[in-house]
Order: sequence, then structure tokens, then C-alpha cells
Amino acid sequence: MRYLSTRGHAARPGFCDILLEGLAPDGGLYLPETYPQISDRLAELRQVWATRGYADLAFEILKLYIDDIPEADLLALCRKTYTRAVYGTDAIVPLRPLEEGVFLQALSNGPTLAFKDMAMQLLGNLFEYELGRRGAELNILGATSGDTGSAAEYAMRGKQGVRVFMTSPHGRMSPFQQAQMFSLLDANIHNIAIEGVFDDCQDIVKAVSNDLDFKRRHKIGTVNSINWARLLAQVVYYFAGYFQATTKDTEQVAFTVPSGNFGNVCAGHVARMMGLPIARLVVATNENDVLDEFFRTGMYRVRTGGDTQETSSPSMDISKASNFERFVFDLLGRDAGLTQQLFKDEINAKGFFDLSAHPAFAQAQAKYGFASGKSTHANRLATIRDTSARFGEVVDTHTADGVKVAREHLLPGVPMLVLETALPIKFAATIEEALGHPPARPPGFEGLEAKPRKVLLMAADAALVKAYIAEHTAA
Ligand SMILES: *Cc1c(COP(=O)(O)O)cnc(C)c1O
Repeated sequence: MRYLSTRGHAARPGFCDILLEGLAPDGGLYLPETYPQISDRLAELRQVWATRGYADLAFEILKLYIDDIPEADLLALCRKTYTRAVYGTDAIVPLRPLEEGVFLQALSNGPTLAFKDMAMQLLGNLFEYELGRRGAELNILGATSGDTGSAAEYAMRGKQGVRVFMTSPHGRMSPFQQAQMFSLLDANIHNIAIEGVFDDCQDIVKAVSNDLDFKRRHKIGTVNSINWARLLAQVVYYFAGYFQATTKDTEQVAFTVPSGNFGNVCAGHVARMMGLPIARLVVATNENDVLDEFFRTGMYRVRTGGDTQETSSPSMDISKASNFERFVFDLLGRDAGLTQQLFKDEINAKGFFDLSAHPAFAQAQAKYGFASGKSTHANRLATIRDTSARFGEVVDTHTADGVKVAREHLLPGVPMLVLETALPIKFAATIEEALGHPPARPPGFEGLEAKPRKVLLMAADAALVKAYIAEHTAA
């Protein structure tokens, strides 16, 4: 399998080459040249799921996209990643019923209690494997508002050849999120709390990455959500959800996905393009409704920092959706010229593009199955209360946005799977606001906030971060 850029660059790298890279050289995102078709293999894959389990299902999907890792090694990497010990159940991503026809699909039982573990744990093992083969090293520099940073750190801790330098806005993450990250004492994990907001952290990462000489000398890489390997790992749980919700391969399901950067739901799009019978992919946003606006109107309007609200589902607080270009590329019949014109020229010049008059826009729903909706703080609280009262299920704030929007898009006779993207304990203050009591703490997380911490407080200055990296990557 070869990969192409959504903006038309001529290079056609293989999987392991783009594994350690971010954007394509022309600023586009990588996608496979074609989507492997599995419609006539559904019975066989259902059998793999039923008899051999999640890790082997992951192997069967991943090997369609990865031909530069020997199959035996890839299988071993999948089996090392997706274990009961790490995810707490043999099903790895089990379903729990809500009202008739609606299910939660648990994706948040990994080490950091958010769905990002599903992909990041695999990425950690892939990085260690590939860096080992190349005799290379990687220093991951990131910015996090909470979930990505901790998922990356728990995936990379103790891994050979990898260090993590993670910036986060000082005092802005939830107390639980801070405790999760800062209690990691591994030598290859570096927490840097920046005196500023999340945008300051992102600006620092950009400034460091734009210093190409520094970047090369210190082998700087990223693990952000545009990484194709992360997206690919997420494709697998759409299959596992489908097989759990259906008994026959003629049945269809729908998914609702709490969305921010469009990475998670883009994996659903890939699964659907492969032939998985998905009737509808519902994009749920919070008050930061860039994506809902697009699917309703055809207008994609990037927000400014000031227009981006801080909400009680903070992992969905985005000003633009960094994976969205992948879907638009497919929507436009893979027209790289037009994709570049929209995402580079028009966004840079005007901050928006408008597809409302383009014939492709109607296809987002009619051909690609997309629908969307939005949820506010009041909706979130009401949904948490209602779901707890009726079903005894306490959902996190992001998942609540998904449940709220899912209920507006039910199709008769089609199971609706709402992806549970985090556990409530990560966002305890809002749960307490909704229910009057804090959420339950999963076993193993007792006393987390009291553990010793390793974190460095730094002014929002890229030069300071660079000096710190240089000092800690010296051979
Ligand atoms: C990252 C995250 C999201 C958004 O996922 P995208 O892939 O960026 O759309 C939603 N919920 C939680 C809890 C997250 O951590």
C-alpha cells in the first residue's frame, strides 16, 4: 500500500515512512491510494472477532494498509497492544445498552481513561519497533489540553529510543488530568507546564518545529491526530462495534462520534469506505460547532482563538478540525487541486470556504452518510442526569454530547452506537454539577492526586523550551 497527499504531492511513501512523519511535504494529509474492500469478507472478519478477538481483528485490518512490516511482527505488535491487562475486558471495546436501539461503545478503559489510548498504545509499540529497526531516536514534542498528552505519555513511557516533551497550559487541565500526567516519573517523560493557555503551548510547538535545523538536530517529531497510524488504529473499533451490535452481515448500524479534530469520525468514514455497513455517521460537536455548521450549511469557517469557547467538554474545544481535509478530499472525488485551493488558498485568505453551491456538498449526507448536531452545557448536564436516572449509567461530558445528538438522529431498526470517548472521573467537576455527587473512581486510580509529581513550570517562551530539550537530548 502506498500513501498520497491530499494536496497532490508526487511522492508515494509506504506506511513506515509516514509513521514517523506528520504532514506531507506540501502541507497535505496522507491517505491510502485506495481503500481496501472488505464487503465480501465480513463473515470471515466476524469469525476472527468471535473466535480470536480484538487484537487479531486489528491485525486483519491493519495488514491491508501495512505491507512494510512482516506479518508475524505486526500480529505480535497487535497482540502486545490490545490486552485484557491494559483495557480491562477481553472485548476491549464492549457495548452497554441504553434505551432500545442505543448503545455506548466503551473506548475509554485504557491507561488514561480516554479513547486516545486505543490508537496511542499501538503507536507507542509501532514507534519502538520501527525506531529499533532503523537504529534511530525520536523526541516527541507536543501540546495538550489534557487527553492527548497523557495518552502519548502512557504509550511512550519506558519505550526505547523515544522521549516525550509535553507542554500543557499551567493550571488549566482538570485536577485528575494533571495528576495523571505529572505523576509519571519515567526518565523519558518530560512534563512542561507553560504559563499561558493551550494556544501558547501550540505556538511554542510550532515555533520549535519551524526551526528546521533544531528540529533535525534534535530529532523532533509529533504524535498529533493527523498521524495516519493513529487514524488507522481507530478504524478497528468500528468493526468491533458492528460485529457486537449485529448478527448478520446484511444489517446496518449507525455511529455517533463526539468530535473535535475529526480524527475519530474520520476513522469511521474509512471503515465505511472499506464496505462496513454503516448507515449513518453522526458528528456531535459542543458549543464549538465548526463541524456542525459545515454539515448543516456547507460553510467551513475556521474560528479565531477568541471565538473558541472553553467548555465543559474541553477535548472538543477546537477552532479548526485538523483531520477534516481528509474527508473533504474524498468528498471532492479526490481532487487534490481543489482541496489545496480550499484548505490553503481560501482558508489562508478568508478564513473560510463555502461548498453550499458545490454539487459534492449534498453527497456528504446522501453518499457518505454524514449527519451532525450540537450540544451545549445545559444539554450536557441534562443528558448526564437523564442517562444516570434512567439507566444507571454515568457518562462523561463528551460522551453526553454524543448521546444528546445521537437521540436526534435515530433510524428505525438501525442500532445506534455512541462512542464513549472518556470516563466521567476525568471531568469530575461537571459530573458533580449535574448529579450532586462526584463520579465513581475506577479501581487502580485511588490516591492518584497525592502521588509524587514531575513537572517543570516555564514561561511561554519557545527559546526556553528549546534550551530544555537540548539539555535533555544531549548524547
Ligand atoms: C480527543 C477527544 C475527542 C475529539 O476527538 P477527535 O478525534 O479530535 O474528533 C472527543 N472526546 C474526548 C474525550 C477526547 O479526548
